[in-house]
Amino acid sequence: MGSLTVIDEWLHRCIRCGNCKYVFKEYEPSCPSGEHFKFETYFASGRIRIAQGITKGDMEWHEDLLEPLFACTTCGSCESQCLAPHSEHIVDIIEEIRAFAIESLGALPKHQQFHDNIVKEQNPYGEVHHARKLREEHYLPEKAEYVYFIGCTAHYRQTQIRDATLSILKKAGISFTIVDEYCCSSPLLRTGQTDLAPELANHNIKEIQATGAKRVVTSCSGCYRTMKRDYSKMGLDYQFEILHTAQLLEELLATRKLSIKTSSETEYAWHDPCHLGRHMNVYDAPRKVMEIAGVKYLEMEQNRENAWCCGAGGGARAAFSDWSILTSEKRVAQAKAIGTKNIVTACPFCITNLRDASSKESEVVDLVEIIDRIT
Ligand code: SF4
Ligand code: SF4
Repeated sequence: MGSLTVIDEWLHRCIRCGNCKYVFKEYEPSCPSGEHFKFETYFASGRIRIAQGITKGDMEWHEDLLEPLFACTTCGSCESQCLAPHSEHIVDIIEEIRAFAIESLGALPKHQQFHDNIVKEQNPYGEVHHARKLREEHYLPEKAEYVYFIGCTAHYRQTQIRDATLSILKKAGISFTIVDEYCCSSPLLRTGQTDLAPELANHNIKEIQATGAKRVVTSCSGCYRTMKRDYSKMGLDYQFEILHTAQLLEELLATRKLSIKTSSETEYAWHDPCHLGRHMNVYDAPRKVMEIAGVKYLEMEQNRENAWCCGAGGGARAAFSDWSILTSEKRVAQAKAIGTKNIVTACPFCITNLRDASSKESEVVDLVEIIDRIT
């Protein structure tokens, strides 16, 4: 048994009141996992109960516990609804008991695949690692004021987000470069596979610091959370500021370093990525960007800290793909309910799932893509 710091400190605080199952006072479902699987063990309260049983020695590890512990998107909605003192640690508890489960039962095969791909190619998709090549293709310098940390999903899957971000950075005249980045470690940390994380984090920090950059911008909400919160939690020291592209866009538009040249006519529903909103409390920056840029957007009924998850996070998309897409379909239906089939968000992972759940006529885009089109 490893060192269970968060569990040791917070596990006994859950009073099993059940608030984590619904949006407080609005009675809207809040937990995509519990809402789908319907059993107590698929809500935060049940997962905490399993963790209590295991750590007190009242239960023994059995492979039947893997699905309840891993069929969770780590969306953090339970944290927003819970009123008890441990509320902000619920996802940490779930991630910690996952790491403990892996010690006894091993990782889920799909999650093990992330791990093996990262060992081989430094990204969870197993694509040939080519970050250095991209720097050469874009004639980027070795030293710069900013580093654009692309993130594996924008780098190898949703490349239009990477390209739009590169385009914006050039248009705004920012001194930037990219580094030989390794996976930020988010897919490993979220799925309890913590062993490689310090090595990946140290590599990224070393690469970024070698450029002399004082600011790092990333277009991935998962990378943003991991670099800003988890690298500090690992006790790593770094001397640069970390921004999400939504925050940089707000700054660039407000200071007129980026100017709007044409209007955006399409109306979108705004989707708050869990790792940007609930995990990092960044709700206003993307909304301000859309207001300054004149992007027409609508709020879905469940928004900000009550937003319904896209279903992709926490290893859910890889290991429980049917449920993951059903979760995303519910979010797409929430957009339709307010009169639009188009969705704008700020995370390549959300884009993947929301696109897969949307019709071909729908436009599901990252905010940076829209801003690139109109500047
Ligand atoms: S996690 Fe919080 S909201 Fe959920 S049952 Fe426990 S105390 Fe109640
Ligand atoms: S993190 Fe999300 S999916 Fe997991 S228990 Fe909490 S509300 Fe449910």
